[in-house]
Amino acid sequence: MGSCLFCKIAAKEISSQLVFEDERTLVFKDVNPKAPTHVLVVPKKHIARLSDSMDEDKDLLGHLQRVAAQVAASLGLDSFRLVTNNGRGAGQTVDHLHYHLMGGRTMEWPPG
Ligand code: AMP
Ligand code: ZN
Repeated sequence: MGSCLFCKIAAKEISSQLVFEDERTLVFKDVNPKAPTHVLVVPKKHIARLSDSMDEDKDLLGHLQRVAAQVAASLGLDSFRLVTNNGRGAGQTVDHLHYHLMGGRTMEWPPG
């Protein structure tokens, strides 16, 4: 996916503030944070959005949640929110699957 922003970050063609990396996953700081801690949990595999994932991605999707939980713990977060925006109507602006991991302040419910 040559023009995809998060694929370029995964390929290190664009720099990011990395928090965690393994063979399947990147976690980096959001450039426009909406909470004191706001990082993005991103698979290196290009999947445009959650609804484009396939059965073959089940293990990867589970892995992303485990990474999110471990990174939250490493950042000292007990309470946090993990959310993915699926589609423009939900607020998705980057078409590469990512989970927002946010914490460090009280979260409102429901989100806007
Ligand atoms: P979404 O709107 O759910 O698709 O989330 C995309 C997120 O990516 C937004 O919170 C942006 O602030 C963030 N973002 C965009 N470009 C970059 C970048 N180069 N590095 C880090 N975060 C980015
Ligand atoms: Zn991509």
